[in-house]
Amino acid sequence: MLKPEVLVVAKLPPFLMEPLQQAYTVHDRIHETDAAAFAKAAPRIRAIAGGGESKVPRALMDQLPALEMISVMGVGYDGIDVAAAMERRVPVTHTPGVLNDDVADLAIGLMLSVARRIPQADQYVRAGQWLNGPMPLARKVSGARLGIVGLGRIGQAIADRARAFGMSIAYTTRHQKPEVSYRYYPSAQALAAEVDFLVLITPGGAGTRKLVNADVLKALGPQGYLINVARGSVVDESALVEALQNGVIAGAGLDVFENEPNVPAALRGMDNVVLTPHMASGTRQTRQAMADLAVANLHAHFAGQPLPSPVPECRSISA
Ligand code: NDP
Repeated sequence: MLKPEVLVVAKLPPFLMEPLQQAYTVHDRIHETDAAAFAKAAPRIRAIAGGGESKVPRALMDQLPALEMISVMGVGYDGIDVAAAMERRVPVTHTPGVLNDDVADLAIGLMLSVARRIPQADQYVRAGQWLNGPMPLARKVSGARLGIVGLGRIGQAIADRARAFGMSIAYTTRHQKPEVSYRYYPSAQALAAEVDFLVLITPGGAGTRKLVNADVLKALGPQGYLINVARGSVVDESALVEALQNGVIAGAGLDVFENEPNVPAALRGMDNVVLTPHMASGTRQTRQAMADLAVANLHAHFAGQPLPSPVPECRSISA
């Protein structure tokens, strides 16, 4: 029997590519690299496989008349035009849950790194500056006030960890969560005014674009730190650069950027930021689990079984 044909739209790791290649005829990014091969294969492509940062616009779906499903290896799917997929009754799947620990770990890691100046301390020792005396004192994290913007699966995992640090925890979401006892604020600005560390862990996309703007940063204040492990689009990056340059906030720990992998030179030159290359879920263990779930969704689809993890918008068409 002919294998179903799958278009891969991101550079995927070998532990995802291998099972895909076993079960499917895989076209690796030919829509970007080989127009003739893509035009030939497009009418037969039945699924798309991508990563959390992949873009699948309506225009790409328009060229794939046989498209049946889209499987994303990642929990965020703001690059996928889900409305266009729904119009075609094409379910989109993602990999929620399996990466909560890693992303929460990195959020805490960034908070500790920026407040305790761990990267700078490492440089201090390597450069021999210790010989001239101790480092300037840093900011204590345990017992501080934490504000979480987006208290979903990962936000709750961050709160669990922060509790062990004796932090007081507050949050903002669009809908208050009656099941948690943390203090709720109706906006990011109101929350920022009451905390020392503001951690962002919402989805990206239109609903959260520039949710953290100059006003929110002003509310966070000169002793406050911003940690972003959500999406670069959630922050007004120029306002953030200005706030960091002018002491409007104390510092930032950033895993995601507006135009990544391009990071503004101004940010790269600052001493009060810690920057990581969108690697919050980047451990071998977690990426393997994400790959397994992304493949399980594809296999379920082609076996006519319910999809393990459709995105919420697609649940009605994926049972
Ligand atoms: P969930 O869907 O479980 O949680 C999302 C939370 O965000 C919910 O509490 C939701 O609450 C809240 N939210 C949504 N919109 C808004 C808004 N406009 N204002 C305030 N809160 C909002 O998702 P996960 O926790 O699994 O993942 C969250 C995000 O983390 C992903 O979508 C992705 O963008 C990012 N991520 C980043 C990674 C990285 O490598 N840096 C890795 C993995 C994820 P409510 O609906 O009530 O508003």
